[in-house]
Amino acid sequence: MNIILLGPPGAGKGTQASFLVEERGMVQLSTGDMLRAAKDSGSEMGKVVADVMARGGLVTDEIVIGLIREQLETVKSNGFVFDGFPRTLAQADALAVLLKEQGQTLDAVIELEVNDDVLVSRIVGRAAEAAAAGKPVRADDNEESLKVRLMEYYKKTSPLLGYYYAKGQLTGVDGLGEMADVKASIGTILET
Ligand code: ADP
Repeated sequence: MNIILLGPPGAGKGTQASFLVEERGMVQLSTGDMLRAAKDSGSEMGKVVADVMARGGLVTDEIVIGLIREQLETVKSNGFVFDGFPRTLAQADALAVLLKEQGQTLDAVIELEVNDDVLVSRIVGRAAEAAAAGKPVRADDNEESLKVRLMEYYKKTSPLLGYYYAKGQLTGVDGLGEMADVKASIGTILET
């Protein structure tokens, strides 16, 4: 079973993806994590993406599609959780082609529904917690970049809701509840 978690930055996609990994043995494919790893490794690609990520913009479709292609071609799994990908219509089309090439299907697209006030306070809170614990704070977890990330989401990613709705693949869950409740809602979707 392959699923996409959709939702704005701070909606809880990463948290829910990690539950699916722990409890269902799924494999999480987070383009954000892959890009941060590339940046930390100091690779050429990492250098190219660092600035645009820090500002909150989207990395090119070509780069992220390449990352996902590589994973789908090399990692064996009985279920992928796509977290932060696709983020544009072009990425969604590319994912459909890649899955088909691998003989795989897309089984559900789950939207984590939240409102912007919660997002801003969650992300600002996450940055403050990391700083207090002496951990590195993400370069894009500041108010200015967050505004850009939200704008990018509404301009380029939110059209995917209509795209998957039209295919009959979209299901929304209330992302404002407790983590455990959101997890339970996702579990119900996967079991039906
Ligand atoms: P969040 O959802 O918390 O904003 P992610 O970790 O998913 O964060 O992504 C962080 C950044 O990485 C994005 O703001 C963007 O710059 C880049 N990025 C991640 N995934 C994609 C993607 N699919 N397409 C383009 N850029 C991406």
